[in-house]
Amino acid sequence: MTQSLVAAQNAPLILRGIYEYHIASHFGPLRPREWLFPLTYRCDARCIMCNIWQGSKTGELSLDEWRDVLNDPLFAGIESVSLTGGEPTLHPELLQLMELLMDKLPGLQRLTLTTNGLGTKRVVEQCAKLLDLCTARGIRLFAAISLDGLGTLHDEMRNIPGAFDKVQQTLEELQRLQARGLRRGISCLLTNRNLHDAENVRQWSAERGLGVYYMIAEFTESYYANIDRADDLAFTGQQREDLAAFLQKLAAQKSLLNPVAYWYADLARMIERETPRATPCIFQKDAFMLDARGDFQWCMHSRVLGNVRQRSATRIYYAPESLAHRRELWAQSCRQCTIGCSITLALAKDAFKYVRFLLGGQP
Ligand code: SF4
Ligand code: SF4
Repeated sequence: MTQSLVAAQNAPLILRGIYEYHIASHFGPLRPREWLFPLTYRCDARCIMCNIWQGSKTGELSLDEWRDVLNDPLFAGIESVSLTGGEPTLHPELLQLMELLMDKLPGLQRLTLTTNGLGTKRVVEQCAKLLDLCTARGIRLFAAISLDGLGTLHDEMRNIPGAFDKVQQTLEELQRLQARGLRRGISCLLTNRNLHDAENVRQWSAERGLGVYYMIAEFTESYYANIDRADDLAFTGQQREDLAAFLQKLAAQKSLLNPVAYWYADLARMIERETPRATPCIFQKDAFMLDARGDFQWCMHSRVLGNVRQRSATRIYYAPESLAHRRELWAQSCRQCTIGCSITLALAKDAFKYVRFLLGGQP
């Protein structure tokens, strides 16, 4: 697809983003467009950088409860849902829940499924059925498969013997769904344990026609509940310099079709010069996180604002205390935050920054 065709396809999103992010947001909170949905905390991995797999699996909403919750008008404007977990494909009623979600979210255009890819048969079957549901409604489905290193390094990161072989098989089998419209990519989480293999993951993936999105491990009290892992896995000293150098290499590949290069350039600057984050974030403007138990947050760094079992999503989203907490995040957490959820969407909506970068400017 040519660069001008992609730009033309995204023009409505870009124009609306410029209006909403630069003008409308100064007059009140924007209606939400994106939802980060950890839909179950069940997980079949034992990752060294995350404690979700050790946490409680109880208290998740039933289908009937979701049916009530999704009647809230807040969901009518949602265009994009990112399914995460835990391992989303372990949800016992994933397809029924997705069908319900598609019925209740009339504006839904994009669905992203992040999977650890360990249960090949289950993941491929669920993706195939989910793809059928999406195709029937004109929704684009993207599967992001986690891969943190090649061979036994990935096994060590995920703490599962044979994890790399399982992911490789999942990727091969998912390829069959590409002809039916499934898009696939690799999601690689960087810690001080696997940075040395990050370039190998990129090459391995490129040989298979797969793009890689790199994330830096974040350590949070809620959600990942992995603060205790920071001392062991966070980047320090020379490791930070190596990380910045790798990010600079990625940033050098900037083009109209590679907006993530902006994010990598910004991350490198944040690490090298300790400058505040310049990259926009959907959670600052028009996104939220609502999880399997009904807990509503702005993002992984946010406190829980309320639970949709007790209060409607609309009331939580627009509550003065919720909006005040979002302003606290802007002031305290966003400056150093390396969370990069839906960066491409955020940069499309705040396109001036990205255009300046393409023309030779800094983030
Ligand atoms: S990082 Fe993902 S796959 Fe790994 S334990 Fe946490 S939720 Fe499970
Ligand atoms: S703390 Fe991070 S994820 Fe949360 S709103 Fe700020 S930049 Fe976004």
